[in-house]
Amino acid sequence: MSDKDRFDDTDFREVVLDSDKDGKEPETEAAKPDDKPDDNEYEDICYICHRPESKAGAMIKVSNNICICSACMQKTFDSMNHIGFPLGDMSSFGNMPNISMINLSDLQNMDMLPKSQKLKKKKAKEEKKPAPKLDIKSIPAPHKIKASLDEYVVGQEHAKKVMAVAVYNHYKRVACDSKDGVEIEKSNMLMVGPTGSGKTYMVKTLARLLDVPLAIADATSLTEAGYIGDDIESVVSKLLAAADNDVERAEHGIIFIDEIDKIAKKRNTNQRDVSGESVQQGMLKLLEGAEIEVPVGANSKNAMVPLATVNTRDILFICGGAFPDLEGIIKERLNKKSSMGFHADLKDKYDKEENIMHRVEVEDIRKYGMIPEFLGRLPIVFALDALSEDMLVRILTEPKNAIVRQYQKLLAMDEVKLVFEEEALRSIAKRAKEKDVGARALRAIIEEFMLDIMYEIPKDDNIGVVTITKDYIEKSGGPLIQMRG
Ligand code: ADP
Repeated sequence: MSDKDRFDDTDFREVVLDSDKDGKEPETEAAKPDDKPDDNEYEDICYICHRPESKAGAMIKVSNNICICSACMQKTFDSMNHIGFPLGDMSSFGNMPNISMINLSDLQNMDMLPKSQKLKKKKAKEEKKPAPKLDIKSIPAPHKIKASLDEYVVGQEHAKKVMAVAVYNHYKRVACDSKDGVEIEKSNMLMVGPTGSGKTYMVKTLARLLDVPLAIADATSLTEAGYIGDDIESVVSKLLAAADNDVERAEHGIIFIDEIDKIAKKRNTNQRDVSGESVQQGMLKLLEGAEIEVPVGANSKNAMVPLATVNTRDILFICGGAFPDLEGIIKERLNKKSSMGFHADLKDKYDKEENIMHRVEVEDIRKYGMIPEFLGRLPIVFALDALSEDMLVRILTEPKNAIVRQYQKLLAMDEVKLVFEEEALRSIAKRAKEKDVGARALRAIIEEFMLDIMYEIPKDDNIGVVTITKDYIEKSGGPLIQMRG
């Protein structure tokens, strides 16, 4: 072996020993010798104040990967000037008390700063909003609006149809001008339907499909301005917030006011009705269209809050309420009509009719306690069906984001298939129907027995399929578990 060969040999051994010093493979990415930091992914850190680029701003690269932020650089120069340090003469600087200067030439020899001493840049959030399914600029036809609603809302065919036409006309009205003197009336709506029948859900779905801002307010919290509670204009302020303070977007949005039946005129009262009739009065100008000054980022006006002017002319108002006892008023009217005259009918003809709410007329709601001026500004009145057991079963499985599908997706992440027996679904629907709060009861019931499944299943990797049986829902048995393979 020649001298040269021998030298190469030792050199090689040295290298091997060096990298194997503690007998471990380099663990971190930073420790890998040939893995150079990717400049785009990591940010520089100031050598003096140790702040990263994202906090300290642009860095001045002094030498081999040493960076100093401009603030520290400035401070260094300032302190030099302050003590009258002649910047040209660096040799006397080392004698100054309490001042230690970095000797840049020492740093030249330092190895590159390892990646572990750099901060990884935060990834800029990609704000990719899914394109709206329905484009209000090209005003989708009512059947398209209804078809999109069908994907999410089970049943309620009449309500979906009425809403689709009303929304279509509303956005047509917004798009057209009234130069020819024909001004299309606003299509504000009043929905009548029992609790949990999907009033809020339909409005939410509609706003999402159209990609317009939506504000949901509860009429029970509204009071006449000046009294304890939210004043009426706060709903517009909510809408502005939902539109990210973009006034133009807010002016094409939707405001849903729930529990509208709670602001019915109070009968037989001598006190001032600050949360009933006065609220209806106060809402009149909002519903019709007015320039409202609303506080930005707060729901009450005060000196510290900036104000924005929002025109409510093109805002679609949808009011919803359960109107309990309205059935009685409708029946009374129908019975009165049919028991009069030559073709008089049986007095109790309508008593057993299902979904009598569909026969609702403005007159009935006026009788209920809503003032005529208020109802005049909500020209479209329609009712939702009370949910039957069959509809509840469909709600569990059919909509795009049905509860059952959500659980199936969760378990699919653990590679477990979740199956619901038809009988089990029916049993859940039956229990929900008994609670009399519509579809709202479904989630509570399903969550109650899915808790154990979600807790136990991930314990065992061999479980492949879980079948929820009727017995499990009725607490007389367990779910069926099938193993993989
Ligand atoms: P309401 O406002 O009429 O009291 P919600 O709209 O809050 O009732 O309904 C409660 C929940 O029930 C909704 O979040 C939705 O998941 C479900 N739901 C109600 N009706 C339907 C329906 N027709 N189709 C699909 N889901 C529904």
